[in-house]
Amino acid sequence: MAEGRRGAAKHVARDRGLRAALTGELPIALRELETDFRGQLVVPEDPGYDEHRKVWNGSIDRSPALIARCAGVADVISAVRFARDAELEVAVCSGGHSFPGVSVCDGGVVIDLSAMRGIRVDPEARTARAQAGVLWGELDRETQAFGLATTGGIVTHTGVAGLTLGGGIGWLQRKHGLTIDQLLSVDLVTADGEFVKASETENPDLFWGLRGGGGNFGIVTEFEFRLHPVGPIVFAGPIFWPMERAEALLRFYRDWSAEAPDELMTIVIQRKAPPLPFVPTELHGQPVVSVACCYAGPVDEGERVVRPLKEFAPPVLDLCEPKPYVDHQAMFDPSFPHGRWYYMRACDVATLSDEVIDIAVDHSRQIRSELTAFPIWQLGGAVARVPEEETAFNGRGAGHTFNITAATATADGFDEEREWVRNFWSALEPNHTSVYVNFLMDEGQERIRQAYGPQKYDRLQALKRKYDPDNFFRLNQNIPPQ
Ligand SMILES: Cc1cc2nc3c(=O)[nH]c(=O)nc-3n(C[C@H](O)[C@H](O)[C@H](O)COP(=O)(O)OP(=O)(O)OC[C@H]3O[C@@H](n4cnc5c(N)ncnc54)[C@H](O)[C@@H]3O)c2cc1C
Repeated sequence: MAEGRRGAAKHVARDRGLRAALTGELPIALRELETDFRGQLVVPEDPGYDEHRKVWNGSIDRSPALIARCAGVADVISAVRFARDAELEVAVCSGGHSFPGVSVCDGGVVIDLSAMRGIRVDPEARTARAQAGVLWGELDRETQAFGLATTGGIVTHTGVAGLTLGGGIGWLQRKHGLTIDQLLSVDLVTADGEFVKASETENPDLFWGLRGGGGNFGIVTEFEFRLHPVGPIVFAGPIFWPMERAEALLRFYRDWSAEAPDELMTIVIQRKAPPLPFVPTELHGQPVVSVACCYAGPVDEGERVVRPLKEFAPPVLDLCEPKPYVDHQAMFDPSFPHGRWYYMRACDVATLSDEVIDIAVDHSRQIRSELTAFPIWQLGGAVARVPEEETAFNGRGAGHTFNITAATATADGFDEEREWVRNFWSALEPNHTSVYVNFLMDEGQERIRQAYGPQKYDRLQALKRKYDPDNFFRLNQNIPPQ
């Protein structure tokens, strides 16, 4: 390890340039950090370095000088102060699921929260506290032990932290609102290494900005959420038809879903059927359109509400049935594993107009990769009932979110699939309304401004001047202070 530290010191010194290397101030700072650090400091020479620098998106390959795997708040404070004193760039990593991979950097320090996995549910108060490294499957497991849940991500290995700070869309959103609408308070370490709390009553300006403003204002170490009774059995799952039916299905779906109760949340997916155990062999690789449903209410009611969709035309596969909520939450896990090469462009649209449907169907037919899956999320319900000004999240009035996602196993075929995404997204451009920040790639400042809209962007910028005037936290969907 000592050998590793010396290597790290060299690495860090290289990043700081000649002056630091000559004075030797950085190796001393690193040794000081090591003295009190309760977690693990991982440098390029350490075993496990390659494992810890990996993020979910396999197309991202970056090599930080130091990965500070924090064990608690004190480690986060020390890591922030170390990086600040050493003038090193900082990336913050919780679940590691950032699409553009901004939770890891070249050179610089990754402040890694993934070892902070504590969860405490209060079943009487119907609240849960989750540390920043918790994943959605873990929070669901703990809350469902009491028949409770909160709106969360639809893939179990996604991080609670990054998802929540961008807004948080999921199966329960139309009934209960976004993840940020369930947020009661956070603990946070600022760019100065100070510990603060934020809630409706403590630092309310910060609390407003954290609900949609991402990682711009500090490192959240713990979240407190409101919970709701859910399941544990829900009526949920996907129903599949051949992709030739996509146009007719989407027109039917548009009218049927517009009348759906808030309990029902749906996602339409177009892709080639995956070779998963529950998919019959003859369907593997065949282009299909599916509607995945989740009814956050009584099972028999869900069955009744979904019936007209099942009767639209005979499905080739119907997996929409009573099942444990936690199983439904894990349904997409095999489709989005770690390590594949992913690229995504997103936009919201007001409605599924005939034009939007025609574009979606036309481009879905051009999907080449068997790993590519293109979801359209249904919004509305409780999401839209929270006043737009209440949180930094923008676009509550949109009808649907398009997640045009390409995936390949390796670099082979990735460029072509990415081109498909870009062309599809451009064809939809006249219909774009807002965009969800957590679905942005590295798309430039103007796009971030568009995501928040000019008024919210200006307000977030003022908040950034107050909490992070030096733009210390800039590896994110960045809102520079000026
Ligand atoms: C497979 C998959 C499924 C997804 N499903 C959903 C979904 O159902 N609903 C949805 O809304 N989104 C979903 N997303 C998008 C998701 O919200 C973002 O990718 C989000 O950033 C993931 O959070 P993370 O903690 O895993 O990310 P990380 O990569 O760890 O972090 C991303 C960024 O968030 C910020 N951040 C992370 N942790 C902290 C912290 N503790 N304090 C301050 N800032 C922090 C940092 O800026 C960081 O760069 C999904 C993404 C993937 C890859």
